Amino acid sequence: TSSAHQTQPPASLQAPSDRATRPSIVGEDSGPTPPFPIYLAGTVQRGFGRGGKDLGCPTANLPSKLLQPAVDEHKGSGSAAEQPSLSPIDTRVHPMVMSLGWNPFYANKTKTAEVHIMHPFKRDFYGLQIQVIVLGYIRPEYNYVDVEALKNDIETDKQVANRSLERATYSSFASDSF
Ligand code: ADP
Ligand code: MG
Repeated sequence: TSSAHQTQPPASLQAPSDRATRPSIVGEDSGPTPPFPIYLAGTVQRGFGRGGKDLGCPTANLPSKLLQPAVDEHKGSGSAAEQPSLSPIDTRVHPMVMSLGWNPFYANKTKTAEVHIMHPFKRDFYGLQIQVIVLGYIRPEYNYVDVEALKNDIETDKQVANRSLERATYSSFASDSF
């Protein structure tokens, strides 16, 4: 039900108490609970080209028109020869963290869905098809006093995601037919 036209909510500044009380794992041990799992597919878009890589956290930006079955996105897209190729290891299923929101620290005017894949890619993959399964919710979007505070929070997000996804009830989605 998310829409690119939703209005931007105010984001609170992250307080030290927010950081101290962050859980180290999220979601039920028994597996994702509604609205999860959420299946998303689309081609990787160019964003503002700032933020992601400076933060040590590049994010593959998804199209604002989400929730399209992967098969629809393939139709009418360019020939395979136009697509840059990635290695078979790169195109496996990898754990990810997704940001859905307005990136208040960067004062964006539009809502974006951006995926950081926890795998070292040797090259960019703009324009390639990406499929994502969202399995849980980590935290609300905050603003930050400085870039270091933002980077610290993103590092914690990655640890929380990895720890949460290690559970068999979540890692099993790596072999989902999607
Ligand atoms: P943009 O604003 O264009 O999204 P980023 O700094 O967020 O710029 O970089 C995003 C791009 O980096 C992705 O579109 C992708 O091609 C590339 N990339 C390289 N490694 C990763 C990764 N581990 N996760 C996500 N994107 C990656
Ligand atoms: Mg990005």
